[in-house]
Parts: sequence; C-alpha cells; structure tokens
Amino acid sequence: MQNIQKNLLKENNTSEKILTGDRATGSLHLGHFVGSLQQRVKLQEQYMQTVLVADMQGLTDNGHNPQKVSANILNVVADYLAVGIDPVKTTICLQSKIPALAELTMYYSNLVSIARLERNPTVKSEISSKSFGRAIPAGFLTYPISQAADITGFNATLIPVGEDQLPMLEQTNEIVRKLNNIAQQQVLVECKPLLSKVSRLPSVDGRSKMSKSLGNTIMLAASEKEISKAVKSMYTDPEHLNILDPGKIEGNVVFTYLDAFHEDPDYVASLKRHYQAGGLGDGKTKNILETCLQDMIKPIRERRQLYMNDKAQLIEVLKRGTEKSQDEANQVLQKVKSAFGLNLF
Ligand code: ATP
Ligand code: MG
Repeated sequence: MQNIQKNLLKENNTSEKILTGDRATGSLHLGHFVGSLQQRVKLQEQYMQTVLVADMQGLTDNGHNPQKVSANILNVVADYLAVGIDPVKTTICLQSKIPALAELTMYYSNLVSIARLERNPTVKSEISSKSFGRAIPAGFLTYPISQAADITGFNATLIPVGEDQLPMLEQTNEIVRKLNNIAQQQVLVECKPLLSKVSRLPSVDGRSKMSKSLGNTIMLAASEKEISKAVKSMYTDPEHLNILDPGKIEGNVVFTYLDAFHEDPDYVASLKRHYQAGGLGDGKTKNILETCLQDMIKPIRERRQLYMNDKAQLIEVLKRGTEKSQDEANQVLQKVKSAFGLNLF
C-alpha cells in the first residue's frame, strides 16, 4: 500500500527527472552530505531519481591506480544506504556497466572543442591542484563530456549538485543545444542545477573545497576520534588570541560548519553575536560543533557498518539498479545516433 502511494506521488511529478552521482574515489564526506545527499533523500519521495556511482569517471585521474576506484564502489553504495537513500525509491546504478553512456560520450565528443574543455573553471582548478603538468589524461580533460552523457542518458532535468558542478551542467546544456540543432528537433532536454543551502563545504583547514581527492575530509564513516581530531584542528580566526577579544565569523570554519549542521539556527546566531562581541572562546565553539557532529554521524556510521558487513546485498542493490537503467540509456543512445544519421539498420 505504502509503495503504491509513493508511485502515485511520483507519477504526479514526472515532469522532472533527477540524476546525481559520485565518483568512486573514496567514501563520502560531510560535503556530499550537505551539498547533495540530504537533497536526494528528500527528492526520492517525489521524483524519479537515479544515482550513479561514477567508477569510469573515477578512473580519469586514477588510471595508474585503479584499485582506488574498484575498492570504493561498495563504500559509496553503503554511504548512500546509510544516509537514507532507499533503493526501492531511487535507482542506484554503476556507470561502467552501462555501455550506452560510454558510447554517448564518444558521439558528444565531436561537439566539443579542446579549447572549450580547457576553459571549464572546475576542471582547470582540478588540473592545477593535481599537478598533472603537461601529462593531463585525455579522459580527465574530457570528463565533462562523460557527465553530459550521464545526465542526458537518463533524460535528467534536475541535478542536485554542489557549486563545483555548475560548469559541467553548462557544458551539458551546450551539447544538448548543439545536438538538437543538428537534428532540427528536440532530441535531448536541458537540465538545471538544484543547489542546496551549503553548496560548497570548505575543508577543515578552510583552504579549499572538502574533496575526497584532496584528503581533507570528515567522512560519513569517521570514528569518534577522527571527528574530534578534525574539529580540534579546525581553522578559526587567527587573530582571536584571547577569549575576551572580539572574533571574526567570516572564514571561521567552525561557524561555517555550525551553520551547515546545527539544527538550531537561532542558537547559532546567538553564539555568533557572543563571539563577535568577545567573551566566547574557540574551545567552547569547537566543543559545541563536535557534539553536534558526533550526534549526527554516529547513527550513519553504525548503519553503514551493518551494510558493509553484507557486501552481497550491496552488490545486489547495484546490480538491480544497473539493469533497470540500461534500457533508458540505450533508448537515448539510439535517438542520438539517429540525430547523426547513423540509423541505417
Ligand atoms: P573527488 O575529489 O574525487 O572529485 P569529491 O569529494 O569532489 O571527489 P565528487 O564525487 O566529485 O566528490 O562529487 C559528488 C557530488 O558531491 C557533486 O555533486 C559535488 O558537487 C558534491 N560535493 C562534493 N564535495 C562537496 C563539498 N565540499 N560541498 C558541497 N558539495 C560537494
Ligand atoms: Mg569532485
């Protein structure tokens, strides 16, 4: 009965189709949680939603170290289930097992210039932080094209992502418009981002975006000790030397995290006033944040461990979702091939 109600609800909202995904380059972290996962848990109640474990995309900067990707596929699935993504309501699938996505990437790559790829600001900053020098893997430079294949391959229109993904959606829509123009009809639909309240969670040191590859994360699987250590090392206001001094909120990671994770915004606002006026120490604000994160992460970590103890179940979830996704991606591929006139038989 409950499932019938859910499906009815979804049928009323078929105008939007959701797709998101995560590179299988590590376990998921607090940035994923506030940037995208929380939204997915809500959206699955109302919309058709697909979540893609992007293992092929993970290889684009790990070709020399593929175990990093293969070892993390199930970690990502366990994280999904632990935060409440329900495989009955959300289709969870594996990119490398949907060949139509790789084929679409190949076709779309004819519509994008190297200069355009080099202009993508997220890719540009990732290239410089990864110190590739001139040895940029071709797959890495072109991964926005593969993301366009993922999005259009599922006819997705609404994409809950963090801020770093906006340039990818822009590139996707350029490809969509070019293809529709070639076909002289609407073959693909454009997508739009759905940004959360916290669309770029900084790392603990405040220097960059929290990212799996940069090793600056607080994982959803973090132990009590790891959480405590991370909070203690958090960047605050370097000029706030004495408790009685007024402190700065801007750029103070403890307050950024309190804004993102504390359930009582009025209380956080009163802490901010106190801190700015002077008389509130960093030790105290860090303790408040630590309690908040410990309480939030503990049940996620415990559920995650239960799922990790049953890897066969995780594989089954992924397999079922992948099988369900293949048809849709194949249909899009056929339409795209026809748009290029490649439909002789
Ligand atoms: P990698 O370092 O391997 O690129 P990542 O930590 O950046 O990993 P992704 O798998 O690239 O994670 O991103 C998955 C989704 O999570 C994307 O929608 C991305 O925008 C979002 N996301 C990742 N990090 C953050 C963050 N710090 N704040 C908000 N959203 C984030
Ligand atoms: Mg990333």
